[in-house]
Amino acid sequence: MKNAHWHGFTQMAGLEPLVIESAQGCWLQTVDGRRLFDGVSSLWCNVHGHRNPHIDAAVEQQLKKVSHITTLGMSCETTERLATKLAEITPGDLGHVFFSSDGSSAVEAALKMAFQYWQQCETAEVGSTSLNSTSLSSTSLSTGKTKYLALSGAYHGDTTGAVSLGGIKYFHKLFAPILFTPIRGPIPCTYRYPDGVTPETACEHYAREIENLLEQHHHELAAVVIEPLVQGAAGIITHPEGLLLRLRQLCDQYNVLLICDEVAVGFGRTGKLFACEQENVTPDILCLGKGLTGGYLPMAATIARPHIYEAFLAEIKESKQFFHGHTFAGNPLAAAAALASIELLETTTILEDVTTKSAFLIEQLKPLLDHPHVGNIRGRGLMIGIELVTDKSTRAAFDPGLLMGKRVCDEAMKGGVWLRPLSDVVVVMPPLVSTDDELDFLANVVINSIEKVCEPSSVVRV
Ligand SMILES: *Cc1c(COP(=O)(O)O)cnc(C)c1O
Repeated sequence: MKNAHWHGFTQMAGLEPLVIESAQGCWLQTVDGRRLFDGVSSLWCNVHGHRNPHIDAAVEQQLKKVSHITTLGMSCETTERLATKLAEITPGDLGHVFFSSDGSSAVEAALKMAFQYWQQCETAEVGSTSLNSTSLSSTSLSTGKTKYLALSGAYHGDTTGAVSLGGIKYFHKLFAPILFTPIRGPIPCTYRYPDGVTPETACEHYAREIENLLEQHHHELAAVVIEPLVQGAAGIITHPEGLLLRLRQLCDQYNVLLICDEVAVGFGRTGKLFACEQENVTPDILCLGKGLTGGYLPMAATIARPHIYEAFLAEIKESKQFFHGHTFAGNPLAAAAALASIELLETTTILEDVTTKSAFLIEQLKPLLDHPHVGNIRGRGLMIGIELVTDKSTRAAFDPGLLMGKRVCDEAMKGGVWLRPLSDVVVVMPPLVSTDDELDFLANVVINSIEKVCEPSSVVRV
């Protein structure tokens, strides 16, 4: 059957899928004999390369014990060890790990967790006293807290709750009739500022906008949900430094939970194990996915602080347990891969090398800054976006019909690099273990592809 496999976010008509036979390190081997550099880490999740011997061995060992058992009321030793490890390595007192199988589910669980928390909060002694908020806590602790604040351009996944939070037009507008409506904050972009805003005033400007919304809505808000530091799917939009910390302070002040979706930025992408650490922030709930298993197996986690968790503790008959749970949550094979991946991050210099590798990659990409159609090169760590624009001075975008980003990525494939763009942002997100030689190769192919596709004469409708 041709096209038996229906691909996500992909127009199937006329698709000739790229089929991979095997992979090794940062390289993919196609069935038709091509060797391609994995320039976006198999969609942002690969950390240590493919077929990493340490992770391979951990999964093989686990296969000899048990592949799957439920985590509804029982568990597996490997999964227990992973939960303890995650509690240990995540910021602050984040300590109670709820497992699921993908990033969207981690966000979905966080939304329901925050919601149920407030429903049960009034009677949960520990829950209300351990909140470090002050004056507002007694007035806004109520079951009226049923809404969420999310940012413009946000992306939190594709399940219905996660899509509701999302603010990317193409992905989300279509489904509007079946979604809930969040309170919508700004997109804290550092490339296109609102009128009168400068790089120096941006953080305060965006924080004020969000504060205004909190002031108006805190009594009905369960949580603020954000992608810390970098909004990935929006086009690698980087936030002004300091904004995350300001949001943490505002959430405390207005007694609203802070949910950080680190599905994309977690596990070293930005140069620290977790992006929140860059601003010494501990969210109330942390969502992890993609890199959790080193990009090996589907697994995600929603991690809560004690004041959240404790609001769910009661006699069975009170029905306060978290009403949510997935069949494959905490899968032992995935847990084994995750433990091995984390072990590598803890025992090698991979994590501290991200900052130097990032600087090296940016340096290699520098020739592009003079290109008339490269508006901006931005990112944190090994999460970089190159935005193509039709006019550098006005920062005007190309006509989307020109598919400039896609054409650059098609060209890169000819040069031996697999990339997937976000509209006209060429995403460069190699595995963290990429060597300088590999990064150099990647940068050269990206530069050549942009130069070829964005030659003034070739910028015509296809
Ligand atoms: C990818 C992503 C998700 C969704 O994860 P899936 O595993 O694709 O469901 C959620 N949030 C962010 C920030 C992401 O980048």
